[in-house]
Amino acid sequence: MSLLYFWRRDNYERDLDEGVAFHLNQSSAKLHSVDLGGSVWAFTRNAKGRYVLAAELIVHAKTRNPEGYQYGPFRVWGDRSRSRYFAIDDGPNVEPLIRTFALSMGDGVLGRSFQGPGAVRSIAPMDHAALAVFARDLPLEPRAHGVNEEQLELLLARPQPEVITETIYTLPGGMSAARRRTIVRDVAVRSRANVEDLRTLYRGRCQVCEWESRAAHSVDVCEGHHLQWLSRGGSDAMSNMVLLCPNHHRLVHALDAPLDFSDLSFDLGTQRAPLRLTDHLRPLISPSPSS
Ligand SMILES: [Zn+2]
Ligand SMILES: [Zn+2]
Repeated sequence: MSLLYFWRRDNYERDLDEGVAFHLNQSSAKLHSVDLGGSVWAFTRNAKGRYVLAAELIVHAKTRNPEGYQYGPFRVWGDRSRSRYFAIDDGPNVEPLIRTFALSMGDGVLGRSFQGPGAVRSIAPMDHAALAVFARDLPLEPRAHGVNEEQLELLLARPQPEVITETIYTLPGGMSAARRRTIVRDVAVRSRANVEDLRTLYRGRCQVCEWESRAAHSVDVCEGHHLQWLSRGGSDAMSNMVLLCPNHHRLVHALDAPLDFSDLSFDLGTQRAPLRLTDHLRPLISPSPSS
């Protein structure tokens, strides 16, 4: 099952500016009806008033957000190597195609029929196939090329601020200039302080396996990881960070594994890796759906 979603242009553009998230949040559980490997197609209305495709997220994980998260409890994560963000300014009009789908839309303004509970709709396999053909050669949005997040986090762990500043501006990838500025100005300092606080709180141990370099070797080797990556709009708050040993940190990045706030486990695809040390995240556990 694939989904079609209307993305307000201001939200789409904010996502691009703050770091392309490759995920989508909703208050409706409908979002989680998409299959793993299925697509969430997003369309928007560009500055010329034309409906255009904005993104195709090919879903590799579905998780719950932290309790109280402002954009709703449900999240899907797009596979970063296969998902695409499209350049919307000159995109072709997708409205005639969408109007052929078996969805109730009325004859009014298309975007309006995709609001509230109708913002996310299931589409038939043949509609998905038609969108795939439509999107085959669309130009891509240049800001949506991944920055190497591990490199970014390692850089932030270095003690010399001037190296951080210099390197962040030359780090390859499509991160916007505004986002780079924010990282240099605010995130670098707070991130480092948070890592120190996490090391104090957990006595330097990995929150997944409890490996402790401090007790065994008198050095701190565990690293700060940003649950929502900094290069994908993540914040520098403690609630967005965990302390991981280098093995678990590499693994989480290699699999692009999200933390599911329903049970504080990393979703590794075929397995889950629960956090054993959870003190600072426990208040954020997302309660199970009441139904
Ligand atoms: Zn570990
Ligand atoms: Zn990390």
